[in-house]
Amino acid sequence: MNFDISRKRMVETQLVARGITDRRLIEVMLNLPRHMFVQEAMASQAYNDTSLPIGEKQTISQPYMVALMTEMLSLSGKERVLEIGTGSGYQAAVLSKLAGRVYTIERIPSLASRSRKLFDTLGLTNISMKIDDGSVGWASEAPFDAIIVTAGAPEVPLALVQQLQPDGRLVVPVGDQVSQVLNLVKRSADDGFTVEASTPCRFVKLIGSEGWSQ
Ligand code: SAH
Repeated sequence: MNFDISRKRMVETQLVARGITDRRLIEVMLNLPRHMFVQEAMASQAYNDTSLPIGEKQTISQPYMVALMTEMLSLSGKERVLEIGTGSGYQAAVLSKLAGRVYTIERIPSLASRSRKLFDTLGLTNISMKIDDGSVGWASEAPFDAIIVTAGAPEVPLALVQQLQPDGRLVVPVGDQVSQVLNLVKRSADDGFTVEASTPCRFVKLIGSEGWSQ
């Protein structure tokens, strides 16, 4: 299995062909070994056009969804970014190459510890991580320039909007437990914010006080 060839094909056919244009993001996804973030038995499927199980009934998102949500954050390099739902760690690793520092929160300890080891192995030193309910954000590290929620919420979690910097952006899948739509929240310079709904998607549940109860 030649992962480099599969990865290049993934970027061309799944990302560029579908309209992803951010050159920095494309470069990162061309180089980041996604096969290391999935279970060993699934490594050969890591570059397929799909989400994959990662254990604990959770999933690593489809590559296109990672790219699309990341592009929606409009990162230029110095931002402080918060991610809710570390899961496999892949999305956090992508963000770590495009922003100044990434804060990521996972509620399931076994997933968190696997990801933490991977960040060490890959030398991703600008990622801070904690095991907690991320639906309420990370107040002691707020405000953030960008926030990404990689689990489906019943509504836009207002605690997260409040932890955005003025002009900051939040991307969150909002809907029922089966399907959602990506919502892009832009905080304005005053206390207001706008919400735009775009692409349909399917994420596992955001479980927590600003998410689903179970
Ligand atoms: N970004 C991940 C996607 C993981 S799936 C990746 O790149 O692989 C979503 C993850 O969100 C799951 O691991 C789930 O346990 C976690 N999650 C769900 N609700 C959460 C909450 N309230 N706080 C933190 N993590 C949560």
